[in-house]
Amino acid sequence: MIKYKYEFPSSKINWEGKIISIQPRTRVWRYVTDNRTHYHLGYNLFIEGESCYSDKHFTVAISEKQQSKGLFRIGDMLKGTAWTKKYEEREYADFYRAGSLKLLDRENERFEAIPPPWIMIPPPLQTYEERGARMLSKNLWKTKCFQCIWANMANVEIQWDFDKNIKKYRFETFCYGSKSCKYYKMGRPRVVPYKNRDSALDDGYLDELCTEGRDDDE
Ligand code: SF4
Repeated sequence: MIKYKYEFPSSKINWEGKIISIQPRTRVWRYVTDNRTHYHLGYNLFIEGESCYSDKHFTVAISEKQQSKGLFRIGDMLKGTAWTKKYEEREYADFYRAGSLKLLDRENERFEAIPPPWIMIPPPLQTYEERGARMLSKNLWKTKCFQCIWANMANVEIQWDFDKNIKKYRFETFCYGSKSCKYYKMGRPRVVPYKNRDSALDDGYLDELCTEGRDDDE
């Protein structure tokens, strides 16, 4: 991931490369352990390639409309434009507001990998919305789960002070996949701070609420 200073003026760039993973792009709002709401914004393309920055791996945020039109998938060679982000701590993708997407080559007309992980064209955002997410170990997200359509790196806003509307920001990993996936591990419980209080601990209880609409094997 490319590192910027805390705030950076946004500028338009060109990029080109191969998709090595596609995951939903989300924002999660947390308020102690009373609320964890997941908003589904689009998709993150994890790219191995070139941009005007030297980093070989980077992430580009695209809209749901762009994904449903292009049906992008792992192995696609793509090029396009995008904008650098203003706030490093609020957006995981290196570039967003992608445009002029052009498919240069497609190596996977079909996928034959046996899940898990689920390596295929990701579903519409509504499917993620309906399934709900559980916390996923960050180590698994980086390794076995990285190419799975159900893996997710979320932009998290923690409501730290309601009166002054002060938020804290971080990134967290989640899984929208089957509860019976043999790879699944929650990882450590997550601390949710609030001003002038002991931090609350999200230890999995909210996962049950967020995914209560489906059974273990869905
Ligand atoms: S744990 Fe979740 S993200 Fe990882 S392979 Fe299983 S379903 Fe996919």
